[in-house]
Amino acid sequence: MNGRSRSWADVPPFTCVICLAPLHRIPHRGGLDEWQWADAQGSPSRIDPDLVHLYDPQLNPVGATDPYDALNKLAALMDTAGAARKACLTWVYWQAAREYSALKTRLDVSATFHQHEVSPATPAPHHGPVPRHCGQPMRLAPSGWRCRACNERTDA
Ligand SMILES: [Zn+2]
Ligand SMILES: [Zn+2]
Repeated sequence: MNGRSRSWADVPPFTCVICLAPLHRIPHRGGLDEWQWADAQGSPSRIDPDLVHLYDPQLNPVGATDPYDALNKLAALMDTAGAARKACLTWVYWQAAREYSALKTRLDVSATFHQHEVSPATPAPHHGPVPRHCGQPMRLAPSGWRCRACNERTDA
Protein backbone atom coordinates (compact mmCIF):
# COMPACT_ATOMS: atom_id res chain seq x y z
CA MET A 1 0.00 0.00 0.00
CA ASN A 2 1.47 3.30 -1.04
CA GLY A 3 0.93 5.77 1.79
CA ARG A 4 1.52 8.76 -0.45
CA SER A 5 -1.49 7.95 -2.60
CA ARG A 6 -3.81 8.04 0.45
CA SER A 7 -3.79 11.78 0.82
CA TRP A 8 -7.40 12.44 1.89
CA ALA A 9 -6.36 12.71 5.52
CA ASP A 10 -3.51 15.22 5.14
CA VAL A 11 -5.41 18.04 3.47
CA PRO A 12 -7.12 20.88 5.33
CA PRO A 13 -10.76 20.34 6.32
CA PHE A 14 -13.48 20.92 3.79
CA THR A 15 -16.71 22.69 4.66
CA CYS A 16 -20.31 21.49 4.46
CA VAL A 17 -22.31 23.79 2.16
CA ILE A 18 -25.43 23.25 4.32
CA CYS A 19 -24.24 23.59 7.92
CA LEU A 20 -20.69 24.97 7.41
CA ALA A 21 -19.17 22.19 9.55
CA PRO A 22 -15.55 21.32 8.76
CA LEU A 23 -15.53 17.94 7.03
CA HIS A 24 -13.09 15.16 6.29
CA ARG A 25 -13.33 11.96 4.28
CA ILE A 26 -14.12 8.59 5.80
CA PRO A 27 -14.65 5.21 4.11
CA HIS A 28 -18.35 4.70 3.36
CA ARG A 29 -20.28 3.47 6.41
CA GLY A 30 -22.59 1.33 4.28
CA GLY A 31 -19.71 -0.88 3.12
CA LEU A 32 -19.38 0.62 -0.37
CA ASP A 33 -15.83 1.12 -1.62
CA GLU A 34 -16.44 4.87 -1.64
CA TRP A 35 -15.61 7.86 0.49
CA GLN A 36 -18.13 9.94 2.33
CA TRP A 37 -17.91 13.21 4.21
CA ALA A 38 -17.96 13.26 7.99
CA ASP A 39 -17.87 16.05 10.55
CA ALA A 40 -15.56 16.37 13.57
CA GLN A 41 -17.75 13.90 15.50
CA GLY A 42 -17.32 11.38 12.66
CA SER A 43 -20.95 11.62 11.61
CA PRO A 44 -21.89 11.77 7.91
CA SER A 45 -25.15 13.59 8.69
CA ARG A 46 -26.42 16.28 11.01
CA ILE A 47 -29.65 17.98 12.03
CA ASP A 48 -30.41 20.88 9.69
CA PRO A 49 -28.98 24.14 11.05
CA ASP A 50 -32.36 25.91 11.10
CA LEU A 51 -33.81 23.20 13.39
CA VAL A 52 -30.98 22.98 15.91
CA HIS A 53 -32.75 25.43 18.24
CA LEU A 54 -35.69 23.02 18.57
CA TYR A 55 -33.50 20.62 20.58
CA ASP A 56 -32.77 23.18 23.30
CA PRO A 57 -35.78 24.37 25.35
CA GLN A 58 -33.85 27.57 26.15
CA LEU A 59 -33.52 28.44 22.47
CA ASN A 60 -37.09 28.08 21.20
CA PRO A 61 -40.22 29.99 22.26
CA VAL A 62 -42.34 26.90 23.03
CA GLY A 63 -39.67 25.21 25.21
CA ALA A 64 -39.45 22.15 22.96
CA THR A 65 -36.80 19.45 23.38
CA ASP A 66 -36.96 18.12 19.79
CA PRO A 67 -38.87 18.87 16.56
CA TYR A 68 -41.72 16.45 17.41
CA ASP A 69 -42.12 18.04 20.81
CA ALA A 70 -42.16 21.45 19.10
CA LEU A 71 -44.91 20.24 16.75
CA ASN A 72 -47.03 19.05 19.70
CA LYS A 73 -46.49 22.27 21.61
CA LEU A 74 -47.39 24.41 18.60
CA ALA A 75 -50.54 22.32 18.14
CA ALA A 76 -51.45 22.81 21.82
CA LEU A 77 -50.85 26.55 21.44
CA MET A 78 -53.21 26.68 18.48
CA ASP A 79 -55.85 24.61 20.32
CA THR A 80 -55.71 26.99 23.26
CA ALA A 81 -56.02 29.99 20.97
CA GLY A 82 -58.85 28.33 19.03
CA ALA A 83 -60.77 27.48 22.22
CA ALA A 84 -60.51 31.05 23.44
CA ARG A 85 -61.78 32.47 20.20
CA LYS A 86 -63.85 35.16 21.83
CA ALA A 87 -61.40 37.71 20.52
CA CYS A 88 -59.88 37.74 17.08
CA LEU A 89 -57.03 35.35 16.44
CA THR A 90 -53.81 37.29 16.74
CA TRP A 91 -50.72 37.31 14.56
CA VAL A 92 -49.15 35.04 17.17
CA TYR A 93 -51.74 32.40 16.30
CA TRP A 94 -51.07 32.70 12.59
CA GLN A 95 -47.32 32.65 13.17
CA ALA A 96 -47.70 29.45 15.19
CA ALA A 97 -49.93 28.01 12.44
CA ARG A 98 -47.32 28.78 9.80
CA GLU A 99 -44.53 27.25 11.84
CA TYR A 100 -46.68 24.23 12.64
CA SER A 101 -47.44 23.44 9.02
CA ALA A 102 -43.87 24.07 7.83
CA LEU A 103 -42.46 21.82 10.56
CA LYS A 104 -45.13 19.14 10.03
CA THR A 105 -44.31 18.94 6.33
CA ARG A 106 -40.61 18.49 7.05
CA LEU A 107 -41.18 15.85 9.72
CA ASP A 108 -43.60 14.00 7.41
CA VAL A 109 -40.88 13.63 4.79
CA SER A 110 -38.03 13.27 7.32
CA ALA A 111 -36.37 16.39 5.94
CA THR A 112 -34.80 17.40 9.24
CA PHE A 113 -31.35 15.90 8.64
CA HIS A 114 -28.92 16.39 5.80
CA GLN A 115 -25.97 14.39 4.57
CA HIS A 116 -22.94 16.66 4.75
CA GLU A 117 -21.81 17.75 1.33
CA VAL A 118 -19.16 20.00 -0.10
CA SER A 119 -19.46 22.36 -3.03
CA PRO A 120 -19.17 20.57 -6.40
CA ALA A 121 -16.40 23.07 -7.14
CA THR A 122 -14.27 21.66 -4.32
CA PRO A 123 -10.99 20.44 -5.79
CA ALA A 124 -10.05 16.80 -5.31
CA PRO A 125 -7.73 16.58 -2.31
CA HIS A 126 -5.33 14.13 -3.93
CA HIS A 127 -2.08 15.91 -4.77
CA GLY A 128 0.08 13.19 -6.27
CA PRO A 129 0.08 11.76 -9.78
CA VAL A 130 -3.14 9.94 -10.68
CA PRO A 131 -2.58 6.53 -12.27
CA ARG A 132 -4.45 5.71 -15.49
CA HIS A 133 -6.26 2.56 -16.59
CA CYS A 134 -8.28 1.91 -19.73
CA GLY A 135 -7.12 5.29 -20.98
CA GLN A 136 -8.56 7.38 -18.15
CA PRO A 137 -7.58 8.62 -14.71
CA MET A 138 -8.40 6.15 -11.94
CA ARG A 139 -10.40 7.09 -8.88
CA LEU A 140 -9.04 6.78 -5.35
CA ALA A 141 -11.33 4.48 -3.31
CA PRO A 142 -10.74 3.43 0.32
CA SER A 143 -9.32 0.12 -0.94
CA GLY A 144 -6.92 1.80 -3.37
CA TRP A 145 -7.01 3.06 -6.95
CA ARG A 146 -9.91 1.78 -9.03
CA CYS A 147 -10.43 1.96 -12.76
CA ARG A 148 -13.55 3.92 -13.72
CA ALA A 149 -14.16 1.67 -16.71
CA CYS A 150 -13.24 -1.91 -15.73
CA ASN A 151 -13.12 -1.52 -11.93
CA GLU A 152 -9.63 -3.00 -11.83
CA ARG A 153 -7.95 -2.22 -8.52
CA THR A 154 -4.35 -1.27 -7.94
CA ASP A 155 -2.47 0.01 -4.93
CA ALA A 156 0.07 1.81 -7.07
ZN1 LIG B 1 -23.58 19.58 7.03
ZN1 LIG C 1 -9.47 -0.43 -16.55
